[in-house]
Amino acid sequence: MSEISALQDQLKGKGYRKSSFRENILTYLLKSSSPLSAKEILDSLEADNLFPNKTTVYREIEKLLKERLILEIDLLDGKKRYEIYRTNDHHHHAVCTSCGKVECIDMANDLDAIENQITSKTKFRVESHVLEFFGTCAQCQTISRVC
Ligand SMILES: [Zn+2]
Ligand SMILES: [Zn+2]
Ligand SMILES: [Zn+2]
Repeated sequence: MSEISALQDQLKGKGYRKSSFRENILTYLLKSSSPLSAKEILDSLEADNLFPNKTTVYREIEKLLKERLILEIDLLDGKKRYEIYRTNDHHHHAVCTSCGKVECIDMANDLDAIENQITSKTKFRVESHVLEFFGTCAQCQTISRVC
């Protein structure tokens, strides 16, 4: 089964009726290699000649968040971004502070050792963490070298 139909089945199981906007939103997020903002989702819908009002799009995003089909990512630039929630796909992001490009970063040995240290030092049981990287992407580095 394709990933999109698996997601649709999940929603159907929860009693949601089919919605083409929602289907499109999920498709953009599945295809994108980086998280998308609501604005980017709206732009993609318009590029596909679909013109929903913003409220509809925000409402669909809320639903998908509530049902844990997508994840909200806050990269501290005032824009919320979204990506498909996949169990066992825990990763981080690298954000270019010059052009705003976001890349998903998989780290081989995530932060287990650090979490264990925290637990042994403070008896705190760590359940999750947020870690994002900020800097300059390859392309922006080239531009600044030329100037
Ligand atoms: Zn950049
Ligand atoms: Zn990501
Ligand atoms: Zn991590």
